Amino acid sequence: MRREARTVELMISRYCRDHHGSVSEQCDPCRQLLAYALKRLRHCPFQEHKPTCGKCPIHCYAPDRREQIRAVMLHSGRRLLFSHPMLALLHLADGLRKPHRKKESDSA
Ligand SMILES: [Zn+2]
Repeated sequence: MRREARTVELMISRYCRDHHGSVSEQCDPCRQLLAYALKRLRHCPFQEHKPTCGKCPIHCYAPDRREQIRAVMLHSGRRLLFSHPMLALLHLADGLRKPHRKKESDSA
């Protein structure tokens, strides 16, 4: 559960960095999305037994939020969600790379 929250957080910040050029913190819309995602997570009926939200049979997000989180998952999921134990490693590798590129022309 806590790890899932961490995963969502990582994915959103990753997405935000790649699409919105944020460096250490997410931009406002992404922070709101994260807050929303964490809230959904807290209210998830599966709790400790739940699969990751990507595999969750219950789609508890509101349609617009779902679109947003889906974009995040598509973008960051491939990079971060191979398996949970890899998260820390990937995150570390990420930190070492120090990418400062910004994508302004992206379709976000
Ligand atoms: Zn953002």
